[in-house]
Amino acid sequence: MNATQPSRSPAPASYELARIRADFPILAEPVRGGRLAYLDNAATTQKPESVLRALDDYYRHRNSNVHRAVHDLAERATIAYEGARDRIAAFFGVAREEIVFTRGATEGINLVAYAFLLPRLKPGDEILLTELEHHSNIVPWQLVAARAGARVVAARIEDDGRLDLEDWRAKLTPRTRLVAFAHVSNTLGTVNPVVAMVREVQARGLPVLIDGAQAVAHLPLDLRALGADFYAFSAHKLYGPTGFGVLYAKRERLEAMEPWHGGGDMIRSVSFEGSTWNEVPYKFEAGTPHIAGAIGLAAALDYVAGIGLENIEAHEHRLLEEATARLASVPGLRLIGTAPGKAGILSFVMDCAHPQDIGAALDQQGVAVRTGHHCTMPLMQRFGVPATVRASLALYNGSDDLEQLERALHKTRRLFA
Ligand code: PLP
Repeated sequence: MNATQPSRSPAPASYELARIRADFPILAEPVRGGRLAYLDNAATTQKPESVLRALDDYYRHRNSNVHRAVHDLAERATIAYEGARDRIAAFFGVAREEIVFTRGATEGINLVAYAFLLPRLKPGDEILLTELEHHSNIVPWQLVAARAGARVVAARIEDDGRLDLEDWRAKLTPRTRLVAFAHVSNTLGTVNPVVAMVREVQARGLPVLIDGAQAVAHLPLDLRALGADFYAFSAHKLYGPTGFGVLYAKRERLEAMEPWHGGGDMIRSVSFEGSTWNEVPYKFEAGTPHIAGAIGLAAALDYVAGIGLENIEAHEHRLLEEATARLASVPGLRLIGTAPGKAGILSFVMDCAHPQDIGAALDQQGVAVRTGHHCTMPLMQRFGVPATVRASLALYNGSDDLEQLERALHKTRRLFA
């Protein structure tokens, strides 16, 4: 039985927002005694019925440990789990051996830092990042750089949030050992020109990692065509469960890497004299995995495929334009991140109050946004602000959410003025 079948949703004929929204039970949850406008999607997305059903179905009818047992439930669990890997690989246009299951984008990046880069890193080497990276795409590189006597270098961001490509190229030097950058900035919404950047890095014979945490739910993506060596993302930002994610890695990269974590499943044989390793990707999946996480992600991919990522992208783009115009109507509000072609993330500050207070006032009016540094402290420094308010869009948002945000912002302004 195909593990992903129970969760498949029929494709809507066009973008039917009311129907899509009805798939997400939590969106009908009253908050602060009123309607919820959920605009914190860059932090995590809500889950559709089909994902909730897939998780429930797994625990009710298939729960068992995978790979090693012969009994019926274990076989069902293994079929569902490995079926999910097939589904995920097919969705992104790559081979199943190239899909390493992780706890999320953060773990995927750490895996590459420790298992791939660290053994190849020498004193004086450089790892090229950009100023817009999430801490998860900065700190793992700093940790391995410190061990090897190497260093992290970051390319500049322009005032509108675009990557300064001239600066990035200038910092791509003979000392560079690996290049890593976000596909989409979680704070600015900037979409980096990843195809061209991958080509430039690989033309210099260097490996490239893309942090896709903010891209996978919003843009069509063919990982084979993109050609990056590594691409990491989390299921929970893609309508799937928390605590699960994927590291895509080219097979030859995985084959050339030593394991990172040791334990069950990642071995072929173990003795006190020494151990040998399982084939890829299992060599990098030590211990009992998050079985339901894989099944939940496959269900989430079925869900977004049913709507179509092109349709989702177009819907969110239209919403972003509307949201930008609505925010412009609020006196004293300054948007941070206005790069052309950006994704549905709106970071802003207001002259009347600290972002934290604005977030709290919005919450009282049923608007869920994020405030703070968004795990991008260097970017906050770059823009000279301690924090921002961030509204981020998803496939189930509509004009009503934006109207609620706009109304709440005007009221908040009157409150603090
Ligand atoms: N990278 C980016 C751009 C993110 O936005 C996030 C999460 O906000 C991460 C990495 C880390 O994702 P996770 O915490 O799911 O590992």
